[in-house]
Amino acid sequence: MKNNVTNKLRQQDAQVLAKGYSPAIRAMDIASIVIFLSLELFLVYQLWGNPHVGPWLLLSAVLLGYLASDFVSGFVHWMADTWGSADMPVLGKAFVRPFREHHVDEKAITRHDFIETNGNNCAISIPVAIGCVMMPHTSSAWVFLAAFLGSMIFWVMTTNQFHKWSHLDEPSPVIAFFQRVHLILPPAHHRIHHTAPFNKYYCITVGWLNKPLLMIGFFSLAERIVTRLTGLIPRKDDIGVEAAAELMNSTAKTEAPMVQAAKALLESAEDAESVSSARHSA
Ligand SMILES: [Zn+2]
Ligand SMILES: [Zn+2]
Repeated sequence: MKNNVTNKLRQQDAQVLAKGYSPAIRAMDIASIVIFLSLELFLVYQLWGNPHVGPWLLLSAVLLGYLASDFVSGFVHWMADTWGSADMPVLGKAFVRPFREHHVDEKAITRHDFIETNGNNCAISIPVAIGCVMMPHTSSAWVFLAAFLGSMIFWVMTTNQFHKWSHLDEPSPVIAFFQRVHLILPPAHHRIHHTAPFNKYYCITVGWLNKPLLMIGFFSLAERIVTRLTGLIPRKDDIGVEAAAELMNSTAKTEAPMVQAAKALLESAEDAESVSSARHSA
């Protein structure tokens, strides 16, 4: 009975979603992809034969771009999963909702075709692509910056595609091979994020940064900083106030070793300070 209700809810959601994807948005997606790919091709044409371009510069720009895209995907995903609500005006619908719905109906992404999957990321990357083709390519530094940013936004575009592939039941042998050797996001690796309470492994381009970021406690530290500055409770809207507050307290107790060490250092510095100020006042 309960399962029936859940199924119905999901079906309704899917219908609403399908209605939300209007011909106008589809036309915008197509335009974004065409404009984005044209700009990227034009950048390749501009850099082709440029005296500052060499194999090492290109290789490092492509690799660093891949890492940067992995980080950007993780940061944006963390923001949408952790803060705000799907009911917020503009940002809620366009930005928060797709991420929250993905936790409830993770297969929906596999039903999106190439255009629906890649339109958004192309759209947000267009301003960066314009910057890349407009900047002067007159020194190694400029050429590296253009190649690095051009590569980063290319991988940002592929992020939704790699993420979608990680949710396929039966990816093609070629895709499965790249997943197995961890050159794109592997399904088993991404599964760690899809385990409640969805508070780690946010990076979805390739996931290389997930473990390092978890080890240094990057996102839990960022959450504590935001909470201290704004008073907001992370994930309050996603998993409920009580669960979110409990999770916040439990993660504070089991922090990453580096965060614990930093805190201990801070506390000892504060102790030393209070001792010296006590001495001064004495
Ligand atoms: Zn998520
Ligand atoms: Zn996913």
